[in-house]
Amino acid sequence: MKSHVKAVVIGGGVVGCSVLYHLAKAGWTDIMLIERSELTSGSSWHAAGGFHTLNGDPNVAKLQAYTVQLYKEIEEISGQSCSLHLTGGVMLADTPERMDFLRLAHAKGRYLGMDTELITPSEAKAMFPLMDETNFVGAMWDPVEGHLDPSGTTIAYSKAAKKLGAEIVLRNRVVDLTQQPDGTWNVVTEQGTVHAEHVVNCGGLWAREIGRMVGVELPVLAMEHMYLLTEPMPEVEEFNKSTGREMIGVLDFKGEIYTRQERNGILLGTYEKACKPWSPVNTPWDFGHELLPPDLDRIAPSLEIGFKHFPGIEKAGIKQIINGPFTFALDGNPLVGPVQGLTNFWCACAVMAGFSQGGGVGLALSNWMVHGDPGFDVWGMDVARFGEWAGLRYTNAKVRENYSRRFSIRFPNEELPAARPAQTTPLYDTMLANNAVMGDSWGLETPLWFAPKGSEPKDVVSFHRSNDFGPIGEEVRATRERVGVTEIANFAKYEVSGPGAEEFLNRLMTNRMPKTGRIVLTPMINEFGKLIGDFTIAKAGEDRFMIWGSSAAQKYHMRWFEKHLPKDGSVRIHRFDQTLVGLSIAGPKSRDLLQKLVDVDISTKAFRFMDFREMAVGGAPCLVNRITYTGDLGYEIWMAPAYERLVYNAIKDAGEEFGIVDFGMRALLSMRLEKNFPTWFRELRPIYGPFEGSMDRFIKLEKNDFIGREAAAKEQAQGPKLRRVSFIVEAADADVMGDEPIWAKVGKDYGTVEKPHGYGAPRFDTSGKEIRGSKAAEGASAVRGIVDGDWRVVGWVTSGGYAHYVQKSMAQGYVPAALAEDESAGLFEIEILGSRRPARINVEAPFDPSGEKMRT
Ligand SMILES: Cc1cc2nc3c(=O)[nH]c(=O)nc-3n(C[C@H](O)[C@H](O)[C@H](O)COP(=O)(O)OP(=O)(O)OC[C@H]3O[C@@H](n4cnc5c(N)ncnc54)[C@H](O)[C@@H]3O)c2cc1C
Repeated sequence: MKSHVKAVVIGGGVVGCSVLYHLAKAGWTDIMLIERSELTSGSSWHAAGGFHTLNGDPNVAKLQAYTVQLYKEIEEISGQSCSLHLTGGVMLADTPERMDFLRLAHAKGRYLGMDTELITPSEAKAMFPLMDETNFVGAMWDPVEGHLDPSGTTIAYSKAAKKLGAEIVLRNRVVDLTQQPDGTWNVVTEQGTVHAEHVVNCGGLWAREIGRMVGVELPVLAMEHMYLLTEPMPEVEEFNKSTGREMIGVLDFKGEIYTRQERNGILLGTYEKACKPWSPVNTPWDFGHELLPPDLDRIAPSLEIGFKHFPGIEKAGIKQIINGPFTFALDGNPLVGPVQGLTNFWCACAVMAGFSQGGGVGLALSNWMVHGDPGFDVWGMDVARFGEWAGLRYTNAKVRENYSRRFSIRFPNEELPAARPAQTTPLYDTMLANNAVMGDSWGLETPLWFAPKGSEPKDVVSFHRSNDFGPIGEEVRATRERVGVTEIANFAKYEVSGPGAEEFLNRLMTNRMPKTGRIVLTPMINEFGKLIGDFTIAKAGEDRFMIWGSSAAQKYHMRWFEKHLPKDGSVRIHRFDQTLVGLSIAGPKSRDLLQKLVDVDISTKAFRFMDFREMAVGGAPCLVNRITYTGDLGYEIWMAPAYERLVYNAIKDAGEEFGIVDFGMRALLSMRLEKNFPTWFRELRPIYGPFEGSMDRFIKLEKNDFIGREAAAKEQAQGPKLRRVSFIVEAADADVMGDEPIWAKVGKDYGTVEKPHGYGAPRFDTSGKEIRGSKAAEGASAVRGIVDGDWRVVGWVTSGGYAHYVQKSMAQGYVPAALAEDESAGLFEIEILGSRRPARINVEAPFDPSGEKMRT
């Protein structure tokens, strides 16, 4: 065993071996994988070996597609078979809602390069004769599904990595990790200490324990999972003989089961409601190549439905039941990337579908470690996406909820109840008393909308407009015509201070920093000129700046800030989290209202649009921004939580004479739509350049050499390929939700119809060749099934909904730049729930296009 290496990968499951292979392939060959026991001895050896590309997050779906395509490559390099069976598979819908869900998934596939097809139950039966098609209303066929040998695949990765120079040490547990002053690591093992620049946690079932070695509680939990194998079935043998094909994989949402052929029988697994965590607090180190006792009673309800849906299987005898543990994060997606607050400590864990995702995880993480960037939009699996609130018990509740809902529909207006309320502000009880329907915003209870007095404050979940439609409309109209107040505690807030603060921010941000007492809006981009943040910044004093940003990106942004912090201590960053809370008042009467609560002049000239001031509001010390996301006259008022009730009550009392209303997040998002304002993580993401994102006026290329300036200058000089635009859609009773395809009657291939996915950092195609140039920036190949006569899919929706004040259904999205200013009617259609609706680009915001109202 070497005593010094560039990187140590802890764990020899499929994920650790994939990370090792990808690191070696990217040129880091001085690396070592350390495994406690034998390869695969965590959850990898007893996996059912199924793989598929579909994922709720399109970016994760892309990495799954990469994984599936990688298997041929590692087989060739290693000489080890993965026993790949690319059978294809169907998802069966038993209700019209589930069919809507499949239509949405199919529509997303149109620009993701996925070749799915909607089919009838009889067509599904022809591929899988064991089913009783009368139980279903439709299905979706996905050709990129199948199964493989889990052990063979893990070994193939490991052999391929070894061929490239990596070392693998077996039967050697890592017992401790200690960081050196220079940021490198001492990896203490049973066989001695290895010094490494980087450490990667691929500990699978023990990832949590490895996190604890460095003081981190990772939000990951193992769950028991069962699948059964039937005795050989004559129907299966007969099908194989008569068609020359293997049976396809089937996913039955209603039964919460998946099946596929295994030898001459069937493998059937369940995601049962009565799910069970395994080792919820500590994973025993002596857990070996073991299975857990089967518990048929737990999966009986799923089996009952399964046997009804697939009568052939019921008749077959059960040969074996496998029950084994594997890990999940709160939302079922992996935890990948550098851990904020630590140097050179990386994670690739909570990978619940190692054989669908392992390759993509390995590629993204190796890119990140070797080139400083994952090279893909990996937000959906970034370890930074959960906050401190995701502790052991929270994780337990959320993982159980996620597991039991694995095959349930998640409606766009559906808030999930487990582990709530976690964080609350001092106004929580007041909001409930006001009949608020609350939502979870990065672990914080936040008012979404207010139900009419006397009615139950509850969403009726739906893909269509629902019971919040009327009340949100009321909130918007009252705010736009009088005044409204909403809680904005869920925004991210930071203070950057010290003698180097201004220079630091100027280096990170694309816009100039404001003068004292003023505010700017500014994107933040990375070296590759892609959007990684969007902030409101106020200069509060000589060396002091207040920053507001996206709530969910707090750890993601702190990681970036810390990475670029000067080493000389001249800059300090403080993340307030919930130690600073806020209220926003907006509408034409908001100034009159605020003036009643303050003892300074806040007239138009004395307190201008985009001014920042510290002032007492209702007697409480506050920070006040003259800006709101409603795009109306309005203010954001920030205070310590101890003052929040005082300020809120003062606002409500003073607002009574103006007819003040409470409004929630959904009204706020509706109002931003009619102003064409973008949102972070929807319109603005690291796959888009700032000019593509139509953020031109916030990019000051001449100001200094900020990070990403060169790439942004290039984008501007060449002209962006895509542009973010706003549409007015002739919708019926459902608005866009995001990810819908945008069709245009152009009769011409724009070539950029596939959503960009990778950027900047080197990417590899499936044959292992590096993809360079514009192809790397744009994504891969052309997409099938996107042409219909003169109509083509030219873009995708990022978000939208109903803009209540202007009474229009609106959508934002990306289209080729050449089309971005064409407001003609009849040019575009947007596909909502499978129905293509006429849409028209709206270059100017439909509400107050000149911005006069917010400036008055
Ligand atoms: C019953 C069942 C069916 C499944 N079916 C499928 C399926 O069909 N498709 C699919 O994609 N996935 C399936 N899975 C999930 C799949 O098994 C996991 O996604 C995958 O195994 C995760 O791999 P991993 O490398 O992250 O973790 P693991 O396989 O748990 O590997 C972690 C490794 O780290 C080692 N380790 C931990 N701590 C240390 C330490 N301190 N020092 C040294 N070594 C250490 C462990 O010994 C272990 O070998 C299934 C799982 C189960 C249980």
